[in-house]
Amino acid sequence: MKITDVKHFAVKVGFRCRFVVKVETDAGIHGLGEAGTAGRERALAGAIDHFREFLIGQDPRRIEDINQVLYRSQYFEGGTIITAAASAIDIALWDILGQHLGTPVWQLLGGATRQEVTCFADLISGEGETWAERGADLVEKGWGTIRCAPGMPDDFERLADTIYEPWESMQWTAERLRELRAAVGPGIRLAVDFHHRLSVAEAAEFCRMIDDVGLMFLEEPIRSESPDAYAALRAMTAMPFAIGEEFSGIYVFAPFIERGLCNYARLDVCNVGGFTASRKVAAMAEAHYIDVMPHNPLGPVSTAAAVHFAIATPNFALLEYNWDVRHQPEDLFPRVMHIEGDRFPIPTEPGLGVDFDEAAAADYPFEYWEPPHWRRRDGSYTNW
Ligand SMILES: [Mg+2]
Repeated sequence: MKITDVKHFAVKVGFRCRFVVKVETDAGIHGLGEAGTAGRERALAGAIDHFREFLIGQDPRRIEDINQVLYRSQYFEGGTIITAAASAIDIALWDILGQHLGTPVWQLLGGATRQEVTCFADLISGEGETWAERGADLVEKGWGTIRCAPGMPDDFERLADTIYEPWESMQWTAERLRELRAAVGPGIRLAVDFHHRLSVAEAAEFCRMIDDVGLMFLEEPIRSESPDAYAALRAMTAMPFAIGEEFSGIYVFAPFIERGLCNYARLDVCNVGGFTASRKVAAMAEAHYIDVMPHNPLGPVSTAAAVHFAIATPNFALLEYNWDVRHQPEDLFPRVMHIEGDRFPIPTEPGLGVDFDEAAAADYPFEYWEPPHWRRRDGSYTNW
């Protein structure tokens, strides 16, 4: 079997583009992948075009070798764009292998360690004063874990340049969390994602402010380039941290896992290097009794990849899932996985079990999407 073509599609679905990769073979099988940078699709397209030059003619079953070449071949190894593009190729190769052998991808990864994949509800926005009401509604719908995202708009179509003041947000979030806890009771697991916006001091103080609420985890309260910064924060709080959705490759994860800084590894199959790198991160985490909790904010290909990975991974905790997905066009994705309550049943179809209609992509043409540029009231920049 040989690779005959590698195509990419940046399709505008919802508030930004999804970047889907299709790897074709001379066996009449094609595989699908998705890249996870959530923006900068022209850069991803350029990387895939470069990869295509040497991938055509290769045996798509040499997955580990291809992964090594994609990550290392330009001498300046890895990086966000290269690794996200390589992730999409890797996912597509596993999809091809599964179809070729007539088996779901999870079987190729070692077989089933569980029969269903439990998700957490993403997200309750930062808007309004309705966390308690919405949380109770989610619990009514069967969700057992709810992650809150202070500062985010209710509808991502309205993501905009805005003012973000950390101390105001911390105070507001602490009050909403207390109302939410009172509404849902002690049995529901709650979490908060600050999307990299706090300093070490602010994050430590927030943990103190909400100590009585009882969080399952605090996700990326600070930026995550520096393990030392997390070590400083770790010394100031016992709060479990969920870290790593933007990590590109196993080497970025290593110090966070080895130093006990990451309590839930938020690996993104579409960023970290596909299934190939995800398995290695999960193995590193397993050796430290750390669970993985995949990041999954993209489309149906990302979700399918994360579900297969979770089925085969013993130290899996929960999968992120946007419980209110509004943009899943059936003409573009005629076959997707379907969640039942707060969990996905074990997939049974060969490969990933997801379809993408290349012809329909023309109806969702690429548009430049710029992430919002958030600032403090004094004009200084902050992460969105
Ligand atoms: Mg996050």
